[in-house]
Amino acid sequence: MQTVTILGATGSIGCSTLDVILRHPADYRVFAITGNTQVEQLIKQAQKCTPRYVVLADDSHYVAACDYAKQYQVTAEILCGAKALEEVASAPEVDAVMAAIVGAAGLLPTLAAVKAGKKVLLANKEALVMSGALFIEAANQSGAELLPIDSEHNAIFQCLPSDFEYGQLQKSGISKILLTGSGGPFRERALSSFGNITIDEASTHPNWSMGRKITIDSATMMNKGLEFIEACWLFGASADDIDVVIHPQSIIHSMVQYVDGSVIAQLGNPDMRTPIAYGLAHPSRINAGVKPLDFSNMKDFSFHTPCFERYPNLKLAIDACRAGQAATTWLNAANEIAVSHFLKGNIEFCDIAYVNESTLNAMPVVDVTSIQQIVEQDELARVAAESVVKVKVAC
Ligand code: NDP
Ligand code: MG
Repeated sequence: MQTVTILGATGSIGCSTLDVILRHPADYRVFAITGNTQVEQLIKQAQKCTPRYVVLADDSHYVAACDYAKQYQVTAEILCGAKALEEVASAPEVDAVMAAIVGAAGLLPTLAAVKAGKKVLLANKEALVMSGALFIEAANQSGAELLPIDSEHNAIFQCLPSDFEYGQLQKSGISKILLTGSGGPFRERALSSFGNITIDEASTHPNWSMGRKITIDSATMMNKGLEFIEACWLFGASADDIDVVIHPQSIIHSMVQYVDGSVIAQLGNPDMRTPIAYGLAHPSRINAGVKPLDFSNMKDFSFHTPCFERYPNLKLAIDACRAGQAATTWLNAANEIAVSHFLKGNIEFCDIAYVNESTLNAMPVVDVTSIQQIVEQDELARVAAESVVKVKVAC
């Protein structure tokens, strides 16, 4: 029996995690679930999985949560705030933590789980992109087990040799990590019409159903850029070790190429319950409720190289990865600001890359060596990105 905390339970990954857990009541017990704005859903989830704690990001929905708890006869203790999020991620009773809060808001609770030496199921890629070396160092010090939930990284993890040592790609005979991506909804759209892309068009992914922010990141391919950085940190790879490959069908979730010419790929239907179940049960396998692939009906597979003119955010992210920690912290913060303004209709789709690049250009030369500095740089980058947006909107 594993005791699990789900950070970001009301989101797309959080819901899929609960779906898998509830299929195996004898193997998993939920200690705490957390949410932010979707309070009724959070309480309904608590009714199903009977956690000890329900945690809200802040106290603005506390009264509503108590009312819903009464209505749905939920007896879990309701807590609020950043400290409570960290506490339920690091409590001694907890074995595993699903880190599925979106964006920088997930950094501190995820780190709390890492520092407490938990098994951390990492979906919140932004936390790792923001804090890279410090995050990995914290895991090494505490003995936390990091299990990648992002489908690509989960696939790579599954394709690595069992004796793989962090950062030792050559020693394992690995010549490349091949990070696949669908190319998003605008893979074939005429570049000349990118100026007309609507919020609805960018919010519709061809293969995956996900939260709002990652769906926009997938349309700009910033998601693949963040994943590029994430892969470097998770496997101790350098930027030269990774190639991005467009695979529109999203059936292959990533591959590892070896020096003898072999390529090992992980395949499956595009359903996040597969990597979630893998992370929960590792090193065993459990039923995830995912349909098996039907090879008799499989359409053609295709692959191509991404074009940076179409996906400027991908290039920005790869360049930031090479530039170092401060650049990836700044890029992540700028992108969160840019995407939120795009979703509010304040800027256009192409402005996301403009805001990201202009913000990075304003970055001071700085060495980040502590989490406090990471948080400070994240805040500075947000201020810089907001001023870029302000000027853009005024034009
Ligand atoms: P969603 O937007 O669907 O869910 C985000 C979750 O975080 C919700 O529970 C939300 O609460 C909570 N949340 C939002 N803001 C805050 C905050 N300030 N403080 C505390 N909690 C907050 O996102 P996804 O589930 O799609 O993604 C979650 C993470 O997983 C992201 O980092 C994403 O990149 C990664 N990921 C997602 C994949 C997917 O298929 N969805 C695939 C691979 C990675 P509420 O809803 O109550 O407001
Ligand atoms: Mg992914």
